[in-house]
Amino acid sequence: MTWDRVERLLGEDVLGFLRTQTVGIIGLGSGGSFAAVSLAMSGVGRFILVDDDALEATNIVRHAADRRYLGQTKVEAVADLIRQRNPSAEVKVVVGRIEAHADLFDEMDLVISGVDGEGPKYLINQACLDRGRTAVYAGVYERGEGGDVCVIVPGQGPCYACWAEHLREGLADPGAEPELDYGMIGPEGTLSAEPGLWLHVVRIASSQADMALNELVQGFDVHREMPGNTVVLANTWLEIYEGRTTLPYGAEWLTIPRNPDCLVCGSMYREQDSAQVSLDDLINLGQVSYEQDESESS
Ligand SMILES: [Zn+2]
Repeated sequence: MTWDRVERLLGEDVLGFLRTQTVGIIGLGSGGSFAAVSLAMSGVGRFILVDDDALEATNIVRHAADRRYLGQTKVEAVADLIRQRNPSAEVKVVVGRIEAHADLFDEMDLVISGVDGEGPKYLINQACLDRGRTAVYAGVYERGEGGDVCVIVPGQGPCYACWAEHLREGLADPGAEPELDYGMIGPEGTLSAEPGLWLHVVRIASSQADMALNELVQGFDVHREMPGNTVVLANTWLEIYEGRTTLPYGAEWLTIPRNPDCLVCGSMYREQDSAQVSLDDLINLGQVSYEQDESESS
């Protein structure tokens, strides 16, 4: 009975599949806690929650967990919220920093980054590249005026380092002319130094959870092709592109390319490329012309 409505929407096969899927959520703050509960309510059956913080009074107005969980760790609080929605969900909680638990990525089918700082995102990026895991990252801008969500699939397009270098390049080099107007990003790459209201944060987190769910159901009819690997969401009038204002609740889709010279994933691709050349390929090299190769792939 409980899952009737969701099953009608997603189908029995998809719901059955989602019950077997393990989503790792790193960082269980405003966005991460919302994404976790939302995915549990959408049928995801297994979770690994990683965060070293306890719920404090200041968190209460910006978190899925309320006063009843004060003093508990955020992972325990969110695990309880997940079980309240789906008692059969399997939830593994890890009180600590992801740096000390990189082996956990082996057990995750998909990773959601709920961390604020850029540093941990690079660690998640490396771990996901090593294991071929898709990761969905979100960033909320200063005062919650907007945010962005990107889906990083190893072997397809950019890694998070490529992505960040492209989108946050104004940060790395203040003299460079950024493609996007990222004035709302604070120094040190911390996006939400001045945090937004919960209702503004969860709009970003809701899109993050939805894009994660969409990645999980790849291959099923309910999967939707997205217009890019990145969406920038406005919560108010926001100048996402210089000289062009995006309306409140508007969105801009972007396809951020891979950087062939990326220090993180560049060598991985080069190794892959050379590994693809087999002995047979080398023997046949003289017989296969470049033009033939191109016509085969088109
Ligand atoms: Zn890269």
